Amino acid sequence: MLDTAIDRASTKNVNSHRLPPPPSALRGRIVVAAVAVGAFAAAGAGQTLHALGSSPQQDEVTPLANSAAEGAAAFGVGGPAPAAPQIIPVAKTVDPAAEAQKLTKSQKITEDREAADAEAKRVKYARPAEGVFSSGYGGRWGEMHYGIDIANAIGTPIYSAADGVVIDAGPASGFGLWIRVQHQDGSITVYGHVDSYNVEKGQQVKAGEQIGRMGNRGFSTGPHLHFEVWNPAGQKINPLPWLNANGVTI
Ligand SMILES: [Zn+2]
Repeated sequence: MLDTAIDRASTKNVNSHRLPPPPSALRGRIVVAAVAVGAFAAAGAGQTLHALGSSPQQDEVTPLANSAAEGAAAFGVGGPAPAAPQIIPVAKTVDPAAEAQKLTKSQKITEDREAADAEAKRVKYARPAEGVFSSGYGGRWGEMHYGIDIANAIGTPIYSAADGVVIDAGPASGFGLWIRVQHQDGSITVYGHVDSYNVEKGQQVKAGEQIGRMGNRGFSTGPHLHFEVWNPAGQKINPLPWLNANGVTI
């Protein structure tokens, strides 16, 4: 209701008295109206200013306040109640909070669906490192070699072969430094001779996530990754068929 009063007051004087200029007394009222409207502008009374383009009737000048004090009271300025609550009824017609909530909800559903799709498509096994397959699993130099070797430059990224939990990241006899990741079925992958690691014990990792960098630590004759797979029974099995069975070739 007060919004309407403002509309008429401000609109009336601006439009109908542009030519000729209004008498000084009326101009004073315009100033009062402008000041009052200005007070509302900060509260976002966009619709008040928008109404300036309408064609008001001459006899509507009457409701305009006759003094600065009255004007201030009419527009809710200076009284015990703050001006801002006058704007609230506008918000009720649209309820932007509810609209925003609906949008957020549908956006959340879309995001969840996309995340589920991405998870379904995500590779569950990955090549532990790029490089040259330099040694296989089995007897070697009269000893048993329990893993495969992938040679490349020091610092080459090492990736977790599957989702899992880091159960070791640190020093290990013979390997200098190693990383071990346990997977959901109980199997464990081992990454030996690493130059550095960027994970810690207890950390969850995903297939293809970098866990360290290739090195030449421990009993090693050149920079390479020594990669082992322990089955759930704890036996060190040939990693190649395990990787191949899971869609990974070296
Ligand atoms: Zn090896």
